[in-house]
Amino acid sequence: MINIVDKSKCCGCQACVNICPKNCITMEIDAEGFLYPKVNESICVNCSLCEKVCPFNKETPIREKKPDTYAAKIKDDDVRNQSSSGGIFSILANRIIEEDGVVYGVAMAEDLKSAHHIRIENVEDLKLLRGSKYLQAETGDIYSRVKIDLEKGKKVLFSGVPCQINGLKSFLRKEYENLLMVEVICHGTPSPALWKKYFEYLENKFNAKIEKVNFREKRNGWKTFGLIEDGERISQYLNQHQDPYMQMFLRDYCLRPSCYNCTAKKLESMADLTIADFWGIQDVVPEMDDDKGTSLVIVQSEKGAKILERLKDKYVRVRVSFEDGVKSNPAYYKSCSKPTERDSFFVDMNSMSFDELQTKYCKPIKISFIKRVEWKIKSIIKQMFVRGGVSHSKFEYGLLILLNKEDE
Ligand SMILES: Cc1cc2nc3c(=O)[nH]c(=O)nc-3n(C[C@H](O)[C@H](O)[C@H](O)COP(=O)(O)OP(=O)(O)OC[C@H]3O[C@@H](n4cnc5c(N)ncnc54)[C@H](O)[C@@H]3O)c2cc1C
Repeated sequence: MINIVDKSKCCGCQACVNICPKNCITMEIDAEGFLYPKVNESICVNCSLCEKVCPFNKETPIREKKPDTYAAKIKDDDVRNQSSSGGIFSILANRIIEEDGVVYGVAMAEDLKSAHHIRIENVEDLKLLRGSKYLQAETGDIYSRVKIDLEKGKKVLFSGVPCQINGLKSFLRKEYENLLMVEVICHGTPSPALWKKYFEYLENKFNAKIEKVNFREKRNGWKTFGLIEDGERISQYLNQHQDPYMQMFLRDYCLRPSCYNCTAKKLESMADLTIADFWGIQDVVPEMDDDKGTSLVIVQSEKGAKILERLKDKYVRVRVSFEDGVKSNPAYYKSCSKPTERDSFFVDMNSMSFDELQTKYCKPIKISFIKRVEWKIKSIIKQMFVRGGVSHSKFEYGLLILLNKEDE
């Protein structure tokens, strides 16, 4: 039976929970806020199915393929504005629903304190899935529900981070022609407990209820930022260099242990399509960079290629070399490094206030004078040689939090 001794060997996908014929595996939350399987040994019949479907026990080829790669953006600007990058997920999901299919993806919970996989079958509900939620989402019984839909012959689009795609594939144990798997490139998944702590801190700080969260607000552009407050309605809008939660995420303090050695990045992708932000677009295809978001699309299977081809009238795309596509996006093939302070960060998360945590872990990073000069020279050289001569070196996006003032 499954027994997680080394936490870096469990991504929390819940394939084991979904496969168990005796329902004897539950997920338990640890002190860092991540879920791990726990077997009730008194009910377990030692069938080993949980171990068989664990994606960590699967052998797939090492990542070597250089698939067809595109820069792409949806023609519908409203939808692109609501999406994290170029809105390609929405085009795919829309088509599956139009064909009477169902779409699985990640939505915030109603109270906005956590994120989880949900199933939708109406175009109106697509807004729940749009946009990245930067915290680990709970999959619950979603793999079992996907299987039921597949067995009924429904078209299914399943979306998630690569380890969730691998978990589903492993759980299903056979190919389904009616399944389209779409993965997002993943930097790593932050602790849901940290998100909850930040959430409650903000509600207390503003004495207001958070009623909307957008991790990828584009009101000042895909790469720009701002801090806005307006009267009764308070909206906090900080870019990723200002927002303390985003800082803790992007400095890699708060990720799941398995993210620092992500198996999904080492092995060939199990998805049909990989979508992401096309970071570096201004240097690769400047004419596709209008600062409203451009997606990177990597075609992993013939099924993925076919659906993209069928939907060509809904989006604009330019083919690029695989190398150009991923050169500014190392998260496609490389795990982030574990900071030395990572373990003490979680100890502090449980003992300090959010303000104290922020003071300790979000100090401005000191960059030496020499490094700064080196970067400046590199950026000048780059601008001289880039087509069109314009290069935005920084990529910035904002985290928007709308709060509603409670009555005095
Ligand atoms: C935790 C996380 C880390 C990421 N890291 C990177 C990165 O390093 N580099 C990069 O280029 N892109 C990264 N992305 C992906 C990127 O932010 C966009 O999701 C991607 O560009 C697709 O955008 P879109 O405009 O096509 O559609 P969108 O509408 O933005 O796509 C939303 C999709 O994201 C899925 N999703 C949202 N939140 C989660 C979640 N918590 N867990 C699993 N799936 C989720 C939804 O199911 C849906 O399929 C990350 C996403 C997440 C969730």
